[in-house]
Amino acid sequence: MAELALPLPPGSTIGIIGGGQLGRMLSQAASRLGFDVLILDPEENCPAARVSRGQFVAAYDDPAALTIMGRACDVVTFEFENVPSASIEQLAEGGALVAPGPTALAVAQDRVDEKTFLNAVGAATVDFVAVDTLDDLIAGLETLGTPALLKTRRDGYDGKGQAWVASADEAAEAFAAIGGRPAILEARAAFTRELSIIAARGHDGSVAVYPLGENEHSGGVLRVTTAPAAVDTVTDARAREIATDILDGLDYVGVMGIELFDLGEGRLLVNEIAPRVHNTGHWTQDGCICDQFEQHIRAIAGWPLGPTEAHARVEMTNLLGDEVDQWAGLAAEPNARLHLYGKAEARPGRKMAHVNRVGPLA
Ligand code: AMP
Repeated sequence: MAELALPLPPGSTIGIIGGGQLGRMLSQAASRLGFDVLILDPEENCPAARVSRGQFVAAYDDPAALTIMGRACDVVTFEFENVPSASIEQLAEGGALVAPGPTALAVAQDRVDEKTFLNAVGAATVDFVAVDTLDDLIAGLETLGTPALLKTRRDGYDGKGQAWVASADEAAEAFAAIGGRPAILEARAAFTRELSIIAARGHDGSVAVYPLGENEHSGGVLRVTTAPAAVDTVTDARAREIATDILDGLDYVGVMGIELFDLGEGRLLVNEIAPRVHNTGHWTQDGCICDQFEQHIRAIAGWPLGPTEAHARVEMTNLLGDEVDQWAGLAAEPNARLHLYGKAEARPGRKMAHVNRVGPLA
């Protein structure tokens, strides 16, 4: 691989695999720092491409597009974790700088590998067993007790590919419901609330951690994040320690979202990690001087990490489907900042925009 010339100066080119809203907001942050951005996405004129210098309209595993992208970009990153690992390997083998790297991506793509890694770095998770067959599932229910949650090992997002199993009688139906695919069976977490933490690590190993956010989901989809979350100092310190251990353990470069279950009294379990900017970090756009998108660009470009303290309390609400039609009213709210993703079609449940309502720190 070529000798890396970090920090990348303004005028360098950043490649982003995936052209949805996360890619779009990354691109906007990158352009503010003077970078050019190229997007790889099969959908022509995708949200990120419309604010970028250009787009490769190609599949995420298109070898020719990846070769050209690798040559054209000084660093390549991604906005979603289901990027084919072969694509990242191809880019890296071609000499491209890819951040985050292939290890983080591989760990985050497989729920069993993810939890195994987390436990190895001292970050507690729910108890779990790997499930390949119906017999594994029945044995797992014995070990973990019921109810337990069956999830596909790979390709799950926003609560998809998951089924609660209340008793062994339901095992066959639940396994069929997730397509009989390789799976993980998780013990139920008796959490009082869901928190998340956004953290970044640079090429030099420096780490920056944002205040915790508290999240409300509905139907497996994030609705609201409130940040900074009201947490005691023990919980806050533990979350920061967990984030640092995970990032160091992966020799990570970039921003990561870490979803946590709060069991109370400083006891936290990690639900999952996302090797990218994260929906629960959108509050940083209006609550911090350096938001998660700029932070990611800084990290992968070898710039110093920016400040992560909150200067405001933010309630971030996702606008799904036709909720985006409320844009005019929201734009008239004095303390609301609206972030629209430029998506033409408001399909039901589709993330179309978010609004950050900003208030003074408590
Ligand atoms: P995930 O796709 O893993 O992020 O799960 C989606 C949502 O399901 C989480 O945000 C939790 O609300 C819930 N959930 C996931 N895993 C568990 C678990 N082991 N115990 C209880 N609730 C869970």
